[in-house]
Amino acid sequence: MKSRTKVVVIGGGIAGCSTLYHLTKEGWSDVVLIERDELTSGTTWHSAAQVTNFGMNQTMVGLKTHSIQLYKKLRDDPEYPVGYHHGDGGIRLANTPEQMQAYHHFASMAKGMGTTFEVIDAEECARRHPLISTDNLLGGLWDGEDGDIDPAQLCQALAFHARKAGAEVYRHTNVTALTQHKDDTWTVETDKGSIDADIVVNACGYRVNEVGGMMGVHHPVASMEHQYFVTEDIPAIAEAGHRMPLLRCPISDYYSRQEKNGLLVGFYEQDCKTWGMDGISPSFANDLCPDDLDRVMDVLEGAFERMPALAEVGIKRVVNGPITYTIDGAPLVGPIPGKRNAYCIIGLRAGVGEGGGHGWLLAQQIVHGEAQYDTWVIDPRRFTGHTNVELTALKAIEDYQNEFRFHFPHEHRPAGRNAKTTPLTPIMAAEGAEFTVVNGWERVDYIKPSADFHPTLSFNFDEAFDVIGEEVRNVQENVGLCEVNGFNRFEITGADRHRFLDRMFCGAVTKKDGRVGLGYLLNHHGKIKGEATVANIPASDRGPARTWYGSAAASEYHDMDWLTTHLGADEDVQISSLTNDQTILVLAGPKARDVLSACARGDWSKAAFPWLSVREAFIGFSPVTVLGVSFSGELAYEIHVPNASLYAVYLALRAAGQQHGLTLFGARAVDSMRMEKGFMHWKADLLTEFDPFETALDRFVKPEKGPFIGQEALQKRMAHGPTRKLVTLKIGSTTTPAHGGASLMQGDTVVGTITSGDWGYRVGLNLAYAFVMPDMAEIGRVMQLDLCGELVAAEVITPSPYDPDHARMRA
Ligand SMILES: Cc1cc2nc3c(=O)[nH]c(=O)nc-3n(C[C@H](O)[C@H](O)[C@H](O)COP(=O)(O)OP(=O)(O)OC[C@H]3O[C@@H](n4cnc5c(N)ncnc54)[C@H](O)[C@@H]3O)c2cc1C
Repeated sequence: MKSRTKVVVIGGGIAGCSTLYHLTKEGWSDVVLIERDELTSGTTWHSAAQVTNFGMNQTMVGLKTHSIQLYKKLRDDPEYPVGYHHGDGGIRLANTPEQMQAYHHFASMAKGMGTTFEVIDAEECARRHPLISTDNLLGGLWDGEDGDIDPAQLCQALAFHARKAGAEVYRHTNVTALTQHKDDTWTVETDKGSIDADIVVNACGYRVNEVGGMMGVHHPVASMEHQYFVTEDIPAIAEAGHRMPLLRCPISDYYSRQEKNGLLVGFYEQDCKTWGMDGISPSFANDLCPDDLDRVMDVLEGAFERMPALAEVGIKRVVNGPITYTIDGAPLVGPIPGKRNAYCIIGLRAGVGEGGGHGWLLAQQIVHGEAQYDTWVIDPRRFTGHTNVELTALKAIEDYQNEFRFHFPHEHRPAGRNAKTTPLTPIMAAEGAEFTVVNGWERVDYIKPSADFHPTLSFNFDEAFDVIGEEVRNVQENVGLCEVNGFNRFEITGADRHRFLDRMFCGAVTKKDGRVGLGYLLNHHGKIKGEATVANIPASDRGPARTWYGSAAASEYHDMDWLTTHLGADEDVQISSLTNDQTILVLAGPKARDVLSACARGDWSKAAFPWLSVREAFIGFSPVTVLGVSFSGELAYEIHVPNASLYAVYLALRAAGQQHGLTLFGARAVDSMRMEKGFMHWKADLLTEFDPFETALDRFVKPEKGPFIGQEALQKRMAHGPTRKLVTLKIGSTTTPAHGGASLMQGDTVVGTITSGDWGYRVGLNLAYAFVMPDMAEIGRVMQLDLCGELVAAEVITPSPYDPDHARMRA
């Protein structure tokens, strides 16, 4: 074993092998993989190894499509060929119109990644898969590239090519300890000696937390037992003259694919089981859990009904093995929060199919700091302090039980709820709140008209449409109150804080005491990294002069990593998080000033406290910090309240609001109103794939100001002109909003991609944002939106269609 290397990848399953391979492809050859046993001896060796293009968002589709391209290349490589049944085709079944509509959306979304899905009816499903009955079937989503691969050969081939490029693989070498040094490099201890490395990667499958523990990290990953069986030969398969397509069934929770002349059928039973919660025997390698087919009887019946031929044949082999899950079903691929030079590629539940793509995007992040797609959907920092193995296990069980039942828009599943609440959560529940979950926080979505109000899960506007419209109306005409919990808030102190922040932002963000500004952070490629509201609070008896840095609820770990990484050792700057200590109450509407004046002493007139001001005050007797900012487009105040005072402030505002018609509003009303104002959401519209000019943020950039992160790259990009432009669109449908990822078409060509969509009640328009080809961006240009399978007109309109001069929020 060598004594020093650039990267040590720990774990020789598909995750580790793919990472090693792709690091060499990105040009890093001094890299090492360490595996405690043989390659693939964890989960990978016994995988059903299906490889599909299907994903819930464009990043997932893109990385899976990369896997397929790579696996085809490896299959065709005469030097080290891999057994890969590419192109058997696969069907995801549906028995409700809502599922069929969603499949149309997924097809529209995949088109933008150059991937083709087809939505087919029940008869066509049966024609393509001769073993299935059409009972209780409406149709399905066809992926023509679906197939399965030999997982062991795949990993060996990846390791073979990596070795050829200079990488080294040490098998039967157990990593036993990890030590990080002052210069952020690592020493990796193993039972065969130690090796120093700049960077370590945890790719340890179900042993993720053994290795995580070695660096003092707890990863939100839990394992579930998962079973499939393989049948004896089925004569109809041999007679068909073609391989059977794969099946995935959300009606009865199973999948199947051809194995020799029989079928492999895997199950996601309701009575499922976590695995390894109390530790894993060191000797569990190349191993399986005991068979337990009794447990899957509930879903077995559905598979037999769909494929009656199954009931006629015997079972040859049962496989029951551990599979890893995270809190939201997607893996954790990227930097480990709070650590330097440490990455993970863990929580893979469909790792053989996806692993090629995940290793690719991880290697790009390690080598270039960012991948070619925005990787937030797989970023380990998307979960923050509330995540632990208990919560992860609850969500893993729920996810397993709903394996093929994708989330609909506005669907919030019941497991692991109330992870993060405020003193107002039960009050809001008593007011009839429907809650959404934002990074674990229970946040009011809207106030239900009755306790038994349950809108249909659908891609159309749902029954809450008018309820939200009414909340918006009252904000527009009177005043509304909205609790925004979990908003990320850092307190930045120290004499150098303005100089530091100036380097972080690409624009000129205010440094004046008592003033508020909005800034954008770029990465080293000159593209959007983050967005933050900056409030400069003057010194007072509550503390020294300080700056509050506010950003999206889920960005806490991400932004903290980014800021602290760029802090100079000699800079007098301290950053602490107030995210869990304070909550925002937003008071919005033309009567907001009257309500505030009625319960907070002081002069709140426009002259004394204009838009973009910050002031410490009291509401009743409770200390608050008030920001004059608006996301709704109406006159509004963000009232930041320590959680201990939240209830008292709430009562004071409600009492003061009574005579002004104050009512509650929630996140869905906010989402609608921000679309009318041209305001964007981080990670929906603000992506690492585009620079601020492409994202229509020209007024927030000062390319010539003193040095800032991403400046050089941005200037180079400016010389080349934009690759896309973000525009506001008017959508020609009154029934269905535009969903993120949907494709904008001109003839057969994809010319843009939706990022957000919602109804704008105050302008009476179905609105969307999209990144489009630059020549499609002028006002009045009409394209076709593939809206869940229907082509509807999408016209570019002026941004901020409601009160474009912002007169109402400056009032
Ligand atoms: C029954 C079943 C069917 C499945 N079917 C499919 C499917 O059809 N399609 C699909 O895409 N996915 C499928 N999966 C999931 C897929 O197999 C996994 O997502 C994937 O194999 C995980 O790979 P990995 O590299 O993350 O983990 P692993 O394969 O478990 O690899 C981790 C490696 O790390 C090593 N390691 C751990 N600790 C240390 C240490 N301290 N030092 C050194 N090495 C260490 C282990 O020995 C192991 O080899 C299935 C899983 C199961 C159980």
